[in-house]
Amino acid sequence: MYDVIIIGAGPAGIFTALELIKLKTSKKVLIIEQGKKIENRTCPIEKTGKCLKCKPCCNITSGFSGAGAFSDGKLLSYHLSLYNENEDNFYLGGNDGSFIKQYLSTQEIKDLLKYTDDIYLDFGADKHLEGIDRRDEILELQRKAKKEDLNLIDIPLRHLGTEKAHVLYKKIEDFISEKVDIIYNTTVTDIVIKDGKTNGVLAKDLLTGDEKEYKAGKVIIAVGRKGAGWLEKLCKEHKIETRIGSVDIGIRYELPNKVMQQINELLYEGKVIAYPEPFKDKVRTFCQNPGGFVTTEVYDDGVTLVNGHSYKDRKSDNTNLAILVSHHFTYPFDKPIEYGENIAKNSNSIALGNIIVQRLGDIRRGKRTWKEELDNNSVRPTLKTAVAGDITYALGYRTMTDILEFIRKMDKVVEGFANPDNLLYAPEIKFYSNELIVDKNFETNIKGVYSIGDGGGLTTGLMMASASGVKMARILENK
Ligand SMILES: Cc1cc2nc3c(=O)[nH]c(=O)nc-3n(C[C@H](O)[C@H](O)[C@H](O)COP(=O)(O)OP(=O)(O)OC[C@H]3O[C@@H](n4cnc5c(N)ncnc54)[C@H](O)[C@@H]3O)c2cc1C
Repeated sequence: MYDVIIIGAGPAGIFTALELIKLKTSKKVLIIEQGKKIENRTCPIEKTGKCLKCKPCCNITSGFSGAGAFSDGKLLSYHLSLYNENEDNFYLGGNDGSFIKQYLSTQEIKDLLKYTDDIYLDFGADKHLEGIDRRDEILELQRKAKKEDLNLIDIPLRHLGTEKAHVLYKKIEDFISEKVDIIYNTTVTDIVIKDGKTNGVLAKDLLTGDEKEYKAGKVIIAVGRKGAGWLEKLCKEHKIETRIGSVDIGIRYELPNKVMQQINELLYEGKVIAYPEPFKDKVRTFCQNPGGFVTTEVYDDGVTLVNGHSYKDRKSDNTNLAILVSHHFTYPFDKPIEYGENIAKNSNSIALGNIIVQRLGDIRRGKRTWKEELDNNSVRPTLKTAVAGDITYALGYRTMTDILEFIRKMDKVVEGFANPDNLLYAPEIKFYSNELIVDKNFETNIKGVYSIGDGGGLTTGLMMASASGVKMARILENK
């Protein structure tokens, strides 16, 4: 019998527990996580050269600290409007569909970010902030981008680096484990709901197959993108209110560091947004990793997506970044997650269960890329398991047109951005979709069931997911 059950030990879940501990709560808290402890999370791809589709869960996306453990650890700084003090229209990372903006005031978000940033610093985050020096050069680059209708967002960030993120989250794990119960290798299969309110969850031990009920009056859903598919089904079954969300579909782009040198040095991550003709869809870059490595993440049903990260010290010759197109569907179609999954499945199946990679020059010439061409390409792929092929078989005309037009525009700002040897990997998809309708206390229409972090669409990134956990804890403590 617990007071609070948190589903998922990602940043949102663990910062809820952390803040409850800081508030010296008397509440009995349980975290249920389908993955492993952080020290047991390793991705075999570096040793085996291929994705082994780890069972019971992908180590990249599951386990203590969630998708954060293997993330590049770019933390949005709280200096949201450092250079535009009076603006409320600030950027919050991810697809900026950070719906938390709907629930909290600008000042509250800033305070929350500052508080959360301080916790990261206490646990050993790098004190250095990227993007605060050489202001004149940044402004000049922004002006150049504007001429191409590209909006280069200028926001300072803190870079943990993948290996340092591991160390930091291990310290948090040690701290939390002393004070709250955490069960690993266990997946929540259902939330127990009676008369419009919850009294716990059903959970299955993934190693033994045993199913058990855990009781609590408050259940926090913090399942991240990994749990988005499960969450969608859960909401349908229990009539938890949602609204049709969007899904971001695109590619991971890899090109030489020397092409990206200026942007890398000035900002570390250049977040660029555009609405290219003819569709005027929102196209944006995301998760830029200077000297980084392209990686994979495996979801339920074995769907493999591409992603990227970078270490603090170990560097490659390439920079990788996502180029994503926001897809908003209108009535009667209301299944953005399913749409994204189908694109991913098609794409995986063309590459026999792997990620496809193609040279930009080959796409322009209307031909696939062959392995021999990739072997002789000047940009060497950092994801060795990617299969040379044709991504235009998988991504739709609209998505491809948006991406190619965006690359063409970027080339005017960053010379060499459209070099034919640059590589496109697919599919990169962000399932931000299933947006749960919550009140200002993050509570759903089911009493005692709350939703935070990326899974329910409240946030779209490490820092905001963590901050949503802090806020959740304060709400719980005041209840
Ligand atoms: C490779 C990579 C690089 C990234 N780089 C960055 C970056 O540099 N900056 C940034 O801001 N963001 C980055 N992100 C995104 C960032 O990691 C996420 O925004 C953040 O982790 C979201 O936190 P969360 O707690 O909402 O969800 P998650 O971190 O996804 O955690 C959810 C947890 O819930 C568990 N879970 C799911 N379903 C269940 C269930 N039914 N039962 C029990 N447990 C369940 C999962 O196993 C997982 O551990 C990156 C992501 C990846 C994959």
